[in-house]
This record gives sequence, C-alpha cells and structure tokens, in this order.
Amino acid sequence: MKKIPLKTASRIYKIGGGTGLAAAFTGVIFDEISKQMEILIWAGIVIMIASVIFACIFLRCPRCGSTLFRNWGGYCQHCGEELDR
Ligand SMILES: [Zn+2]
Repeated sequence: MKKIPLKTASRIYKIGGGTGLAAAFTGVIFDEISKQMEILIWAGIVIMIASVIFACIFLRCPRCGSTLFRNWGGYCQHCGEELDR
C-alpha cells in the first residue's frame, strides 16, 4: 500500500474531521433546517466518517508502522519516535 507522509495524512484528518464536526454542529444549533442545509450536514458527516476511516488506514508511525489514530502527541505511543506533523 502506498504511504502518505504523516504531515499530509494528519492534515487531511484534521480538515475532514473539522468539516464534519462543523456540519454536525450546524445541525444541532439551528432549529429549522432547509433541505439544502440537510444535504450539507449529511455530506459533512460522511466526510467526517471518511476521514476517520482514512486516519485508521494512513495515520501511521513512520518508524514502527503502528496506528496513530487518536494520538495527538508529538511522539509515537508504541516506539517513542518523534512525530513530525
Ligand atoms: Zn512508532
């Protein structure tokens, strides 16, 4: 499988997750939602789910290859490698 640089992968994950969260949040705040807005919200949720799946697959430590999903620190929790992101 092709590897994606950690920086790129984590950026995509953050943007995708942020977009999804913003869309879901919009759905919570507004009482009256138009059809177009509903579609946007669902699109955001789909983007968020896709970015989580993406993170599970591509967000990996460059040294030991273990998943960095849910790791927001500067070091790999498995091998201690410093993460450049
Ligand atoms: Zn590691």
